[in-house]
Formats: sequence, C-alpha cells, structure tokens
Amino acid sequence: MSHQTMSVEAIRSLAEGTLMKFGADETNAKAVADVVTMAERDGCVSHGLFRLPGYVATLKSGKVNGKAKPTVTKLAGAVVQVNGHNSFAPTALEAGRPALIEAAKTCGIAVMPLIGVHHFAALWTELEPICEAGLAAFACTSYKPSVIPAGGKKALFGTNPIAFGWPRPGKSPMIFDMATAVMARGEVGLAARDGHTLPEGVGVDADGNPTTDPNEILKGALMTFGGYKGSSLSMMVELLAGAMVGESFSFEAAARDNNDGGPPQGGEFLMAIDPTLVRGNDGWNDHAEGFFDKIYEQDGTRLPGDRRISNRAKHDKEGVEVSQIILDKISAL
Ligand code: NDP
Repeated sequence: MSHQTMSVEAIRSLAEGTLMKFGADETNAKAVADVVTMAERDGCVSHGLFRLPGYVATLKSGKVNGKAKPTVTKLAGAVVQVNGHNSFAPTALEAGRPALIEAAKTCGIAVMPLIGVHHFAALWTELEPICEAGLAAFACTSYKPSVIPAGGKKALFGTNPIAFGWPRPGKSPMIFDMATAVMARGEVGLAARDGHTLPEGVGVDADGNPTTDPNEILKGALMTFGGYKGSSLSMMVELLAGAMVGESFSFEAAARDNNDGGPPQGGEFLMAIDPTLVRGNDGWNDHAEGFFDKIYEQDGTRLPGDRRISNRAKHDKEGVEVSQIILDKISAL
C-alpha cells in the first residue's frame, strides 16, 4: 500500500491546518490535532489522521462548534465539571485538566465529568498527561449503540472504552485502554472483505442470533468481550458517562445525532487519584515497579502501552508512514 513518510510535526500541522480551514479556532484545532498526532506517533492509526474527515464533517454540519469555549465549574472540592458547549472532547479536557490535577493533589481523589462534548479519540491520550503529573487515572466514555447487552438481541451499548493509567516517575506511565466490545466494527468489515469467518462470541445477525459470518454481524450487532462480565463493564460505562455526569446514554446520543460521520454529543467520566495521599507515603512507586518486574519475568508478557511507547521512539527517529489513501481523503475534503 502506498504511503508517505511524515514527521510528527508535519502530521500535527496537517491536522491543525485542516481543522482551522473548516472553522475551528486555534485552541480547538490544536487540542484535536494533539490527540490525532499522539495517535499517529504511537502507531494507533485508527485514531490518527484517519479520524480527520470525521472531525471535519462535524464542523461542516455545525454539530460541533469549532470555536467553543468550555467552562470549568467546581461542583464540589473534588468535582471539576467541564461543559464543552458542543466542543470536541479534547478542547474540554485541556480546559479542565489543571483543575482536576490540583483537586486530586489536594483531596487525594477527584473526578472530572465532561458534558456537551463530542468524543472520537483514544482515551490513553487523555490519561497520559494526568499520569505524568504523578497521578493514577481512569476514564470512560460511551458512543452510539452497536453492542448488545449479554443475552439480548438488539444493540444498546456503544463500544464503550475504559482506560486506566498508573504513573511511573522517570518512565512512560502504564496505561491500558480498551473498548468493551469484543472487536471493532472496522475489523469485522475487514473479515467480510477478506471472506473470513469470525470466532463465536463476536456478534449477532439482524435478528439477534449469534453468527460467525462477518457480513451478517455488520447487519446486526457486536457482543462485549467476556460475555456477561464485559456486558456489566459496558453498562458501568453507560452509567458513569451518562447518568452520573448528566449526559446521554448511547441510545439517547444516537437518537439526536445527525449521522454526519463524526462523533455524537455525549459525556465522559474521568477520575484522578494521588497515590502518595491515598497510601500516606511515596512507597507506591517502588512497590509497583517490583510488581511490573514480576510480570516481565515471565516470557511472553508485556505491559499495556509497551507497543505504543516503542512505536513512539521509532517514529520520532524515522517519521511515520501515513497511508496515501488517508492523505488523499484529507486533500479531497
Ligand atoms: P486493543 O485491543 O488493541 O488494546 C487494548 C489494550 O490492551 C491496550 O492498552 C493494549 O496496549 C493492551 N494490549 C494489547 N495486547 C497486549 C498484550 N499482549 N499484553 C498486554 N497488553 C496488551 O484496543 P481496542 O481495540 O479495544 O481499543 C482501541 C482504541 O479505541 C482505544 O484507544 C479506545 O480508547 C478507542 N475507542 C474509542 C472510542 C470512542 O468513542 N472515543 C470507542 C471505542 C474505542 P498497546 O496499545 O501497547 O498495544
């Protein structure tokens, strides 16, 4: 497949320039360009420049206000609410993050409900700066329904990712970040294109019957990973990023979405924890590092995030290979 090798900075200016061309102001464009660039730099291609046409679609349709100015309100000592007023989620996160970090360092634990935002990014990009400030962090967000609740037949949950990060002073934080759907719809599409069947437990057909045929799953819905256990986690995401923060569930977000190809309006739940305050001393770091060593002692293991961090080092040196198909789509916008 043909590609162009681009520096990280060239990716950032392509993303920022494109968003500004379609009406985003510098603050909004920069916040989104940062998460797009982080994803390309770490080899998370599905959240890099590939998403730019979707971000632009929402600016063009007017669903997202590219000049939004999020407001940050302390609802309580440890509750920092950010209202994006129809911004992209990264703009709201940038606005609220310093207050979240300060609240966690004061209270030991703090939460940041985001409302009025449109989420289309990888969650790890949001947790990394919080972990780099010495805090553990958790985030989750919902989307539009494409996943059935365990035992059900109709999509109700989004792919609903959850992420948890652990600070490692002097090293990149450990962050795992995963959808609660067993597989992305894009991967099901690839299996359909290549004529492969899928394992049992990936999805159901349009009538809600389990199937291994990717074409039927594309007409039906996905399942969560881990059966009823993943289904409970996905339900938790709906509750935290919906009812808890005062935003929509996936099905409510879908009902009012204009289907312009970009993210619907919804909410996000973030939490930051200061391990020094929770434990009462700094011993958590050595303790945790010893535990990570125990994992690494076993052949075949790695920590979540290790793949990204090694991609980052490579891409900073050699540049990133960006698919020509994606670049053509961006120039055609
Ligand atoms: P993956 O299944 O690719 O990876 C999930 C996590 O597992 C990653 O942290 C990954 O680390 C880690 N991991 C993978 N293999 C191993 C291994 N062998 N040992 C230890 N850890 C491992 O991710 P998903 O497809 O589930 O999700 C992809 C992205 O999509 C996420 O960033 C998520 O936030 C995003 N998303 C966003 C949505 C939105 O609405 N904004 C909706 C749904 C998903 P590593 O990265 O190092 O491989």
